Amino acid sequence: MPTTAHANAPVSLPSTMQAMVLEQPRRSLVARTVPLPVPGPGQVLVKLIACGICRTDLHVVDGELTHPKLPLIPGHEIVARVVYSGPDVAGLQAGDLVGIPWLGYTCGHCRYCLAGKENLCENARFTGYTIDGGYAEYTVAFAKFCFPLVDRYANPGGAPLLCAGLIGYRSYTFIGDDVHRLGIYGFGAAAHILIQVARYQGKEVYAFTRDGDQEGQDFARSMGAVWAGDSSATPPQPLDAAILFAPVGALVPLALRSTDKGGTVVCGGIHMSDIPSFPYDLLWEERVVRSVANLTRKDGAEFLDLAPRVPVETTIHTFPLQQANEALEALRQGKIHGAAVLVP
Ligand SMILES: [Zn+2]
Ligand SMILES: [Zn+2]
Repeated sequence: MPTTAHANAPVSLPSTMQAMVLEQPRRSLVARTVPLPVPGPGQVLVKLIACGICRTDLHVVDGELTHPKLPLIPGHEIVARVVYSGPDVAGLQAGDLVGIPWLGYTCGHCRYCLAGKENLCENARFTGYTIDGGYAEYTVAFAKFCFPLVDRYANPGGAPLLCAGLIGYRSYTFIGDDVHRLGIYGFGAAAHILIQVARYQGKEVYAFTRDGDQEGQDFARSMGAVWAGDSSATPPQPLDAAILFAPVGALVPLALRSTDKGGTVVCGGIHMSDIPSFPYDLLWEERVVRSVANLTRKDGAEFLDLAPRVPVETTIHTFPLQQANEALEALRQGKIHGAAVLVP
């Protein structure tokens, strides 16, 4: 890469950086030295403070999401500081603290964008999937899709807010009004953030983990769950609504069975194993099953305004950037209570 590409940079920059790269799905990431990316029109170059590891990264690496850019730098829970802006960027300065989420670009003119549903944009691009993400020392991002962050989150603990927090929050906005007893299936990164918001808003949280996962159930209780148990268990009271973060389709009928009349079961994940057939009785009485796709910038602005008021604190396990494969494996095996975060 010609170093003159960074001719507009106000500071001297290295010409290369370290990154963890997915060259082929279902293979380990490879540590590579790659050219420092150059911000194009509307983009900023940012220097990473940290990048969280999301379950979606596992779906990308494992080939369950089938259209990644290749080679790809994964990662979409980015906390970073702006180094400098490309052309046509307004409102961001060098040194600004930003969070960069999964939604990396929308077209602004398709029928979904025009209807305020940019999460469904026909031309959307996604950080760490169809554009390079944050398993690296630097990355570029479209300035309009970067969120300002408060200093409280200028550390690795802020990273999980950018997807676990945002998608968790969007899922939460669909549970309906007058929900007091909220079930959460899969008590990982998203759940451990969302329970703080739910409790702040006076809700009771019932946490469901993999059957027999005592450690996970203890963690949920330590975070304030009024009840924690196996996913196959029936809660002591019917739930008013439930959110599924575990990517396990068999949980859908179980959650419906535990949810009261008129309640909603929200599927928060981007990928899920097949949902087994179930008797109509489980859906009858106006229960609702729905999915959640991506996020809008409005969700992000709302959640990142709310988070410091709760205040949301994350439980993290940090790994050096070079140990991304080990971190992904720990997440795959359910060994992370809280969130895994890479620190370059
Ligand atoms: Zn669009
Ligand atoms: Zn994610």
